[in-house]
Amino acid sequence: MSDLLRVIEVTRRYGDLVALDNVSLSLAPGERRALIGPNGAGKTTLLDLVAGVTRPQRGQIVFDGRDVTRLGPVARARLGIGRTHQHPAVWPGLSALDNVVVGGWLRAGGVRRLYSPGRLRHHLLRPSLRVLDSVGLGRVVGVPAGELSHGQRRLLEIGMALAGAPRLLILDEPAAGLWPAEVEQLTTLLARLPAGTAVLLVEHHLQFAYAVADTVTVLREGRPVATVSATDTGPA
Ligand code: ATP
Repeated sequence: MSDLLRVIEVTRRYGDLVALDNVSLSLAPGERRALIGPNGAGKTTLLDLVAGVTRPQRGQIVFDGRDVTRLGPVARARLGIGRTHQHPAVWPGLSALDNVVVGGWLRAGGVRRLYSPGRLRHHLLRPSLRVLDSVGLGRVVGVPAGELSHGQRRLLEIGMALAGAPRLLILDEPAAGLWPAEVEQLTTLLARLPAGTAVLLVEHHLQFAYAVADTVTVLREGRPVATVSATDTGPA
C-alpha cells in the first residue's frame, strides 16, 4: 500500500536554531503514529509543517501522492488534513454545533459554491450533529463553545476536524489538561475512528500515546532517534 503521508528530508530553522534537521517520516493510510520527546525536540514544528502552518527551508511534504509543500493550511484541509492545537482553537461565541458546521465548511468545496451560507449550514446540520454525538457532546449542541469545560473544548475541536472527514488527523497534545476519565473517553473516541483515518499526534502523556498509537517515534533535538511499535513496547 502506498504511503498517505511522506515527509522527505525536511529541515526547518528559526534563525540559528535548527528545529528540525533533515527529518523523514512516512505514514500509511489508517496508521496511528505518536511523536514523543522532550520539550523543544521539534514535535509541534513537525505537525505545523504537515498541516501547512509553516514551510520547511529544505525538503518536501507529499500527501496522497501530491507535493503539498507549498500549499497553505486551508488547501491542505480540503485535501483531507485535519488538525487540532495545543490550546483548543474554537469559536467561543458560536454554539458547539456551529463550531462543527464551520469545520465542515472547509471540506464542503464544490458544494459550497452551490449553496447560500444559510442553506449550506442546513446541509451540514445533520452530519454535524452526528459528529457531536460521536465525540460525546450530543447534550451541549446549543451551548456556546466559550462556556464549555476545557475537556469539552478539546473534544469539540476534534469534532471540528472530524467534520471535514480527514484522511489524516493531526492532534497536538490532545490529552493535555484532561481528567483521567476524559483521557479514557478520548482514547475510546480515537479507537473508534474509521480504520482508514490516519492519526499523527504529539503527546507527553505516554500511557495515552501508547494506547492510541500503532507506532511511536521519538524526536530529540530536531531528529527522529527511534521508531518503535506501540504494542511491543508500552511505557512501564
Ligand atoms: P514542546 O513539547 O515543549 O511543545 P516541541 O517538541 O513541540 O516542544 P517545538 O515547539 O517544535 O518543540 O520547538 C522546537 C524548537 O523550535 C524550540 O527550540 C522552539 O523554541 C523553536 N521554535 C518553535 N517555533 C518557533 C518560532 N516560531 N520562532 C522561533 N523559534 C521557534
